[in-house]
Amino acid sequence: MSKALVSSRETDVAVVGYGGAGAVAAITAADLGAKVLIVEKAVAGGGNTRLSAGSVRTFGAVERAVEHIAFLCGGATGPDVIETLVRESHDNEPWLRSLGGEVVVDPLQAAPASYPVYPTGAASPEQPGADGVGPRLRVKGEITANGRDLWELLDRNVDERCIPVLFECPAVRLLRDGDGAVTGLTARRGGEEIAIQARKAVILACGGYEWDPDMQLQFLGQRFWSLGASGHTGDGIRLALDAGAALWHMNAVAAGFGYRVDGFDGAVIHAMPGPGFIYVDRNARRFVDETAMDAHAVGSLVTELDLETMERPRVPCFVVFDEATRKVGPVANTGRGAVAEHYRWSDDNAAEVKKGWIKTGATPAALAAALGLDPAALERTVGEYNRACAQGRDEALGRTPDTLRPLEHPPLYGAALWPSLFNTQGGPRRNARAQVLNAWGHPIQGLYGAGELGSMWSQNYPGASNLTEVLAFGRIAGRNAAGELRRA
Ligand SMILES: Cc1cc2nc3c(=O)[nH]c(=O)nc-3n(C[C@H](O)[C@H](O)[C@H](O)COP(=O)(O)OP(=O)(O)OC[C@H]3O[C@@H](n4cnc5c(N)ncnc54)[C@H](O)[C@@H]3O)c2cc1C
Repeated sequence: MSKALVSSRETDVAVVGYGGAGAVAAITAADLGAKVLIVEKAVAGGGNTRLSAGSVRTFGAVERAVEHIAFLCGGATGPDVIETLVRESHDNEPWLRSLGGEVVVDPLQAAPASYPVYPTGAASPEQPGADGVGPRLRVKGEITANGRDLWELLDRNVDERCIPVLFECPAVRLLRDGDGAVTGLTARRGGEEIAIQARKAVILACGGYEWDPDMQLQFLGQRFWSLGASGHTGDGIRLALDAGAALWHMNAVAAGFGYRVDGFDGAVIHAMPGPGFIYVDRNARRFVDETAMDAHAVGSLVTELDLETMERPRVPCFVVFDEATRKVGPVANTGRGAVAEHYRWSDDNAAEVKKGWIKTGATPAALAAALGLDPAALERTVGEYNRACAQGRDEALGRTPDTLRPLEHPPLYGAALWPSLFNTQGGPRRNARAQVLNAWGHPIQGLYGAGELGSMWSQNYPGASNLTEVLAFGRIAGRNAAGELRRA
């Protein structure tokens, strides 16, 4: 039942979502003289941008980069949108500097190996146009070495421009005129509804559906857990559908492995400090070269479905390591993601073993029993892996000899790993001007989109590129929204 409208506001540009893309769009539109108002569902701004690693991919020569991205997108994103991203992204660094940010090469670029791998350049130099990919950058701040530094910079600039932000104020409906043009929105605040008339345009920048299990089942075919902001429940997709938008990239995600632990609804990012580990599926069998896996590509690894049981053999899968690896470093990264605000993983994993989050056993069979796996199968798998290490050759899955560290120091350890979303990519389809398109491919007048909601990235997401798009398409949306004719 709709609530009574108790107040109304007017602005030129209304921005839905105060995360990275919303802030970038708002700053850009305000700098062009537009009156801007932001509505944000959460109690504070930042969304996934603040929780992220803050790494921003750059692109070099336009033609090469366009070729590369077109290859990764597999035809699901038009060349005009790709070229626009590449050209506009060349301004990301100077723009951040113009806001007062110090921009540095991401230390991840030179980081020692951790697994799964975060590709610093193109995932594979053999891919078409791979030399069009540049280094990864980040905003350097006083606070941390993750997305908080980028967020603090954007937030400060919104504040300096006195752009109003209404917190705990989710947009619930887009307003349209008789021709279907978007003229504003209604938002809910404190149990009341506010009508916001947008004389120029509305920009949707309110994230994906990482926390909507039903959308996951409908669009991804299976359940994922989330590493990021809990406000991402697919609101932007509903708002856009209601206004007649077409959707794209709904089956595309950036996903890693995560742990599910007591007392925390989201997932904790899994990361291994060295190569002394294997992954096994629910049949206790290895299934991938563990040390060559792209940290964002878990989505395509876990899709296999056993039609007999309707179970997924790799959901969950399990990491298995030994005492030597336990001492090398944490097997999780709690420096980013929503968990960063709740918990810091111990350096030697001892606290998590004690909590029972990591199971242990003196032998593979004992560990299997603790994990609920077939003991004989895990004995066999660990034996085969250790023999491959002794021979320096992993015939089964092709691990390189330098990564073949045997699991020979008891006890063994293991934990369940669940497919966990950094972010979804799907949402309202947009063109190179960031206008949201309707089902027939025409722009919906007065409606723009930016950020991971309706991202241009499709199924092969190369990492550190959502923030590149947040900056580039945030500016494009802000610029074009500000350039709309003002309705009376
Ligand atoms: C742990 C982690 C690490 C990552 N690391 C990187 C990285 O290093 N590089 C990279 O490129 N990408 C990274 N990503 C992905 C990247 O952070 C996001 O894709 C990007 O920040 C999205 O920006 P956005 O502005 O679209 O959304 P957000 O920054 O999430 O902002 C969206 C905002 O909209 C709000 N909202 C939702 N619904 C409504 C509504 N109805 N009304 C009003 N407001 C609403 C949300 O509360 C949120 O504040 C990472 C993600 C995670 C979770």
